Amino acid sequence: MRNVKHCGWVVAASLLVPVSLAAQQPANSSGASQPAATPASVQPVSTTPGLALSQPAAKVPVSVDQVVDTIIEREHALIQFLKNRTPLVETYLQNLTPNEKLGATPKEDHYFLGRLDMGDTIDRRDYLMKQASFQRSLMGGVTKLFRIQYQPMGFSWMVFADRQNFDRNHYDFHYIHREFLGEVKCLMFEVTPKKNAGVGLFKGTIWVEDQDYNIVRLNGTYVPRPKNAFYFHMDSWRLNLVPGYWIPAYIYSEEGDFSYGSHDKLAFKAQSRIWGYDVSREGREDELTDLKVDSVKDESPVSQDLSPLEAQRAWQQQAEDNVLERLQRAGLLAPQGDVDKVLQTVVNNIEITNNIDLPRPVRARVMVTYPLETFSVGNTIVISRGLIDTLPDEASLAAILSHELAHIVLGHNLGSKFAFTDRMLFSDESTYQNFGFRHNPEEETAADAKAVELLKNSPYAQKLGSGGLYLKQLQARAPELSALLTSHLGNSFTDDKGQVTRLSALMTSAPSLDESKLDQIAALPLGGRIKLDPWQDHVEMIKAAPVSITSARDKMPFEVTPFFPRLTRLGAAAATEATNPTTAQNTDGKN
Ligand SMILES: [Zn+2]
Repeated sequence: MRNVKHCGWVVAASLLVPVSLAAQQPANSSGASQPAATPASVQPVSTTPGLALSQPAAKVPVSVDQVVDTIIEREHALIQFLKNRTPLVETYLQNLTPNEKLGATPKEDHYFLGRLDMGDTIDRRDYLMKQASFQRSLMGGVTKLFRIQYQPMGFSWMVFADRQNFDRNHYDFHYIHREFLGEVKCLMFEVTPKKNAGVGLFKGTIWVEDQDYNIVRLNGTYVPRPKNAFYFHMDSWRLNLVPGYWIPAYIYSEEGDFSYGSHDKLAFKAQSRIWGYDVSREGREDELTDLKVDSVKDESPVSQDLSPLEAQRAWQQQAEDNVLERLQRAGLLAPQGDVDKVLQTVVNNIEITNNIDLPRPVRARVMVTYPLETFSVGNTIVISRGLIDTLPDEASLAAILSHELAHIVLGHNLGSKFAFTDRMLFSDESTYQNFGFRHNPEEETAADAKAVELLKNSPYAQKLGSGGLYLKQLQARAPELSALLTSHLGNSFTDDKGQVTRLSALMTSAPSLDESKLDQIAALPLGGRIKLDPWQDHVEMIKAAPVSITSARDKMPFEVTPFFPRLTRLGAAAATEATNPTTAQNTDGKN
């Protein structure tokens, strides 16, 4: 029996801060001794003052010099370890303009998706020229999506502190103090280039974990600054995803000063994410040798030939499987996981209450990129991470999913040509040129009408306002967020004039958008819901504690915010996972 279930979608207000602020220990402690607010599960910090860099029990205390040598050695080991990897790198940037009520708000946006060649030398000549066009100088002139060999310029510089010259000849290291980043005890060092050591050298702070002295975070910029140009500031985070290594995952950058009298005209904030390290072409051959061609029998109850209709469905399923497999291999689709189950629960709720009984269950998958889009192929609904992040509640998620469910119910099946496997043979970088799942305007209108009908019979019937409000907020911001609204595989939410067309009927019945109303959360900032494992591309829901909003500036709909991942050691994370199921499965009494 299928029941209507709550999908465990947390209420809006709790998601306004994308990652747990609790992870941030105050950075103002001046000595080695730490305040008492350390997580219970980790070892207490030693209260010995000064340079008490002693290791837990078994290890011999070490000097600062020895620690610095190990940091340098570990950084070179990481560079070596990653040199054959070509992960995906995605940068989303919002140019800012001051707004009296809302603070700095986006005035235009830019999006880049590419591959990062970790084996390349890093070219630091690509600094930001003040006079050159913004996009050209920031993105190194590369605007084409998903281009291979994206030179690790601009935002991906700070993958490493310094790829060539990270040593004592070029840098001075000063121990500052210890602090926790999430659950990981770290030593903080100030790193400054030596005099006349060269140009484009790192200047800032590094955090190293206190067991193997791997760098887990870098914060700073590059010096000396060239004439008429500058290097931007970056905050770069790594995650312990492989035993012994901390893998670059997030880079946040921000420039601009809106204080009174400032002449700083350039202002932006940008997030870069790196993932797909292990989307390896290697290993696929192992797969082949492991392949056991046992005598596989047809398991259908009555062995018989397929009817024309059954053949048609089998064909569509083959296309669906091909597309999903290919997208996952390109690093664009997360492997099946718990977030899919949350999405499927919502779809299921709509199906049950509408007595929809399809020959195959409808599935849902997560595309791991920022731009807001959905599409469906066969019986699978695909929804982007950026979209899931910004939806304020379960009802608005249901509204978005209902549009794709409507396409499936109405039999608007696209993509059956992909049942021919030769159509899967293209480079990952040309995925967007080879795949496309856009419906014509007539099917879009029909799907919207059907979606509203489905929603009115669903458990979300009384909460359609939140979906409408979300779309209104999107409409209000659409002119400034054209990159975020450019879909790459599915239909866009807006028409070519920037008007939101998707489910516009919901907008007419929604309450009016009110920026100053603190209890009205129309849309969330980016990054608030989905956490991506950069090594294996798995996604999971973020567990953030509720944070209350104190001003209209806290709302930040569709905006980029800094990263503050809760760092954990590999293994320690798995232990907490086990006791912390993400989906609450309560039946609510209906059906
Ligand atoms: Zn559609």
